[in-house]
Amino acid sequence: MTRKPLIAGNWKMHKLLADAVSTALELKSLVANVTHCDIAIAPVFVHLKTLAERLEGSNIKIAAQNCSTETKHSAHTGEVAADMLKDIGVSYVIIGHSERRQYYCETDEMVNKKIKAALAAGLKAIVCVGETLSEREEGKLFEVVGRQLKFGLEGLTKNDMERIIIAYEPVWAIGTGKTATPDQAQQMHEFIRKNLAETHGIETAESTKILYGGSVKPENIKDLMEEPDIDGALVGGASLEASSFAQIINYR
Ligand code: PEP
Repeated sequence: MTRKPLIAGNWKMHKLLADAVSTALELKSLVANVTHCDIAIAPVFVHLKTLAERLEGSNIKIAAQNCSTETKHSAHTGEVAADMLKDIGVSYVIIGHSERRQYYCETDEMVNKKIKAALAAGLKAIVCVGETLSEREEGKLFEVVGRQLKFGLEGLTKNDMERIIIAYEPVWAIGTGKTATPDQAQQMHEFIRKNLAETHGIETAESTKILYGGSVKPENIKDLMEEPDIDGALVGGASLEASSFAQIINYR
């Protein structure tokens, strides 16, 4: 089974609009000939529509960094429904990023509701899982990621799983400059794929993209991508500059 890699840039809460547009346009020209992987960037909500318009017809898709658990347009001040994202040209939504779990109290149950809302709106969901440093040190990494997968993906059908991408992001590697070694990442990716085979069948497990995230840089992407179960990357800091993100995309 060949899985087309996805390299996605998570811009988090960075950039004013002019900077976001110029970075996106620079990236567009740097990766215009790329066909070996899918590409996405995730700017803040208020830049999504502008970037979707400016990148229309290019090989760069737009991702949101979050969506509401709620699907009905209703009284939820400050929230954005998944169909509102789809409506303005968004293709993917990142769900359950560790920063949202940690700082905004997102639970696996909320992650599950957000995934269902995203799928109902026709979006693809990039679902983040990963253990903290203490969980790894206590030997609980597989238990933690197994639980995030079990409750996060609960109730999803085989059809639903076609629009699910998993991002393994060890919390201790995010924004810290510490990358998991290719071996450490592969070990968890293999666990995730086996777990998906048990819960959703072998076909789903084999076709689901599993991205690695955590201090991915131009210098370490190639070794990570050589691992059999690593199907791309979710990149934070190194996606903020078009040139370094383009080098990551052109890892081959
Ligand atoms: C992320 O935010 O998803 C991430 C992996 O960040 P960084 O690449 O900066 O570690």
